[in-house]
Amino acid sequence: MVQAHGLWKRFGALTVLKGVDLEVAEKQLVFIIGPSGSGKSTLLRCLNRLETPDDGAITIDGINLLSPKTDINKARQRIGMVFQSFNLYPHMTARQNVTLALRKVLGRGKEEADIAARHALDRVGLGERMDHFPAQLSGGQQQRVAIARAIALEPRVMLFDEPTSALDPELVGGVLSVMRELRESGMTMVVVSHEMAFARAAADTVIFMADGEKLEEGPPAQIFEQPQHERTRSFIRQID
Ligand code: ADP
Ligand code: MG
Repeated sequence: MVQAHGLWKRFGALTVLKGVDLEVAEKQLVFIIGPSGSGKSTLLRCLNRLETPDDGAITIDGINLLSPKTDINKARQRIGMVFQSFNLYPHMTARQNVTLALRKVLGRGKEEADIAARHALDRVGLGERMDHFPAQLSGGQQQRVAIARAIALEPRVMLFDEPTSALDPELVGGVLSVMRELRESGMTMVVVSHEMAFARAAADTVIFMADGEKLEEGPPAQIFEQPQHERTRSFIRQID
């Protein structure tokens, strides 16, 4: 579903990605860990062309993301992204936030968009609160609205960049359980997060990044129990 090869990204003198490869098979969850500044967000942002790599190749669901012939807005419709900050419109209810995305991005009619929005909000457990404004929802609920907004667009792959990092600890579980359900429903996912217990339970592959490189990759048991690289070992010791 996702094939990225030899990705390089520089910001001025700073080289942030140094030839990173990433493959994600359909219905798999790849989990990325690594110290702050190692290039995790930049990698995810390259995967939906919020950043353009200086070199390398990216194919998502058969579409060459870096070709000038590719309609990038159309390609992006297949790639859902959830950030640490939820970026909801504060003057719109949960339902209106999701409906707006369906109308603007997919050009859905009013009623059709409303039905799909209700369905997506039900899926994230917010059926009862869909007419609340963001300020009337907890951070965890707001993040679930952001997830509903992304999945309502029926993406082929979902990218999560530290989706629970801004949340109070007691609100993290609700977001992770929505992500777990999404994974069980067969969504292809790339998740950057520090939630190691979630990775152990839900990831097919864990990648450790440091200094713009993929240092280690393997099933969660291998990365967490028998990391090969000293830097992976010390990172996991710190975070666990
Ligand atoms: P991570 O998500 O692993 O913390 P990032 O991908 O956010 O790492 O950042 C990697 C490095 O790239 C950091 O040193 C960061 O300051 C730098 N960086 C990220 N985006 C930009 C940008 N738009 N311009 C300049 N430097 C950037
Ligand atoms: Mg980041």
